Amino acid sequence: STPFGVDLGNYSSVIAVAKNRGIDVVVNEVSNRSTPTIVGFGVKSRSIGETGKTQQTSNLKNSVENIKRILALNADSPDFEIEKKYFTCPVVVKDGQAAVKVRYLGKQEEFTPTQLEAMYLNKLKDTAVKETKGNITDICLAVPVWYTEQQRRAAADACQIAGLNPVRIVNEVTAAAVGYGVFKTDLPEEAPKKVAFVDIGHSSYTVTIGAVKKGELKILGSAYDKHFGGRDFDRAIAEHFADEFKSKYKIDIRTNPKGYNRVLVAAEKLKKVLSANSQAPFNIESVMDDVDVSSQLTREELEEMVKPLLERIHVPIEQALEAAGLKSEDLDSIEVIGGCTRVPSVKTRLAEIFGKQLSFTLNQDEAIAKGAAFICAMHSPTLRVRPFKFEDTNSFSVTYYWDKDAEDTDHLEVFPKGGVFPSTKLITLYRTSDFEIEAKYTHPEELPAGTLPEIAKWKLSGVEVAEGQDSAICKLKVRNDPSGFFTIESAHIVEEKEVQELVENPEAKPEDEPEYKTVKKLVKSKDLDIVFSGLALPEKVLAKYFEEEGKMVAEDKLVAETEDRKNALEEYIYELRGKLEEQYADFASPEEKEKLGGMLMKTEDWLYDEGEDASKAKYIAKYEELASLGNLIKGRYNAKQEEFRQELRAKQEA
Ligand code: ATP
Ligand code: MG
Repeated sequence: STPFGVDLGNYSSVIAVAKNRGIDVVVNEVSNRSTPTIVGFGVKSRSIGETGKTQQTSNLKNSVENIKRILALNADSPDFEIEKKYFTCPVVVKDGQAAVKVRYLGKQEEFTPTQLEAMYLNKLKDTAVKETKGNITDICLAVPVWYTEQQRRAAADACQIAGLNPVRIVNEVTAAAVGYGVFKTDLPEEAPKKVAFVDIGHSSYTVTIGAVKKGELKILGSAYDKHFGGRDFDRAIAEHFADEFKSKYKIDIRTNPKGYNRVLVAAEKLKKVLSANSQAPFNIESVMDDVDVSSQLTREELEEMVKPLLERIHVPIEQALEAAGLKSEDLDSIEVIGGCTRVPSVKTRLAEIFGKQLSFTLNQDEAIAKGAAFICAMHSPTLRVRPFKFEDTNSFSVTYYWDKDAEDTDHLEVFPKGGVFPSTKLITLYRTSDFEIEAKYTHPEELPAGTLPEIAKWKLSGVEVAEGQDSAICKLKVRNDPSGFFTIESAHIVEEKEVQELVENPEAKPEDEPEYKTVKKLVKSKDLDIVFSGLALPEKVLAKYFEEEGKMVAEDKLVAETEDRKNALEEYIYELRGKLEEQYADFASPEEKEKLGGMLMKTEDWLYDEGEDASKAKYIAKYEELASLGNLIKGRYNAKQEEFRQELRAKQEA
């Protein structure tokens, strides 16, 4: 499988693959290096990515964006209401979590964000398969640093529903930092360089501080603002014009979803223009009620509108520095990525707060995907990558709990906030019988609001107390794995046994008999069985979603092929009709001409009538009907052409 890295952005997504030569960004079907993150539902099929974006304005109610924002989002989270206002389709509650309601194939359907993310990932996978002509199975998916276990599990589930094997879930900015560490050629060998990586995208803002040297990256700390990004700028501009148009044109675009969306789209364009110009016009024809609107905006006005955002831009920087135990003077470089950092006022503020010039070593749009592809390649059994070590840090503390038995305590904070991962810890419990362990976030208040503290539960069985003992000594290998998941990797019982140990005697001569002593040692006596229950989807549900996704893909494919056949038929009609009067004129008898002419006319009429929406088989049948005579004539023409060519060649050779 070709290593595959995905930066699933809230605005657009970038995919990259690892090849022997290096890491390549994969372009999509219209040769773009990024693909709009959108899933649209239609009467006949889904439109994902580019086509979804093209159809968005005419299909607002059935177009879904902001998928990553509502992935595994609990309905009672305050974010539920916040995110809802960014959607143009209804957001509903399904099994206590956010889901969307759309019309698809003529029916009202509900889809979970996990399913939606799977649909989108499947499309990205398809793009990669078509472009690389390789097999794409393993994926390293980048996710926001604020994703909790529940969202990471949902992201991994989405990969599986899309037929992808999530070899690793990685924090977005960490992936970019890995790319920096791998591809930067002038990194120090000894004392690491301290680098702040800043990513401001469409919806969120992350600061990650790392220590990088040749072949190695250590993340020292991260912080984020979940609600800070380009979409908030777009919204601010749209709201400004909504007010302006109300007084100026007496229209309320807030009451007109289509009109509002067009303003939002134009606002985003305007924002980009204002990154390069100090002033720009804003015009939309017939935005609603046949009213044309016309206005303009200056860069200063935009800055004034987003003041509340800019005023808190320093917070994640300070928090990340604190988590890393550094001061901004300690930093050697500030590396900036993410589309929103192209806004001049954002750049200025960042440079002021760090007290340093910003660097743009990384590709602002592609760094995360490339890093992710490299990480996926690190896990590949076949591809050799240059050696690189990296570790991330935990954003939230995690404690494992059990019912107290023969131990002194009933819980242990195994993975504190700021601790590094992947990491494995050994814990020892004294048990008299089978037991359960639960992992929970230690401080729910550290978590994004509305996150449930529960992470996972394990049932451990097979505990046996040896004769003469009060309890069994259970050793548990507890892991915060490379994807950030909290697990119990293995568990076993140890017993104290008398064993013979060689006595080390440096003065012994080779011919001396070796000397042994009897010592008491803890040795493994048996493995415990572990049954895990966590936040991933149950196998059955996963299998059902996988099957449904497969059906939808088949449906989309059939619709696309039907459309292709229809187009082929239409083109053939025009081609034959034109040529029958010209090139083919001498190769068909008057009867044939009349017959074919009639057939062409009849088929064309059919195409614009009942043939408008026919089956793939029907289009093929109609095509073949025409071809039975058409290709006969075409064949005669081609034969004659060939004859000419032969003659010509013979003459030239003579
Ligand atoms: P997220 O990281 O939140 O998931 P994303 O990764 O999709 O989202 P990016 O691609 O980093 O986000 O950035 C997209 C945002 O950057 C959009 O809001 C876009 O309008 C904005 N943007 C892109 N170019 C410019 C520019 N020249 N000036 C201002 N904003 C820009
Ligand atoms: Mg991003």
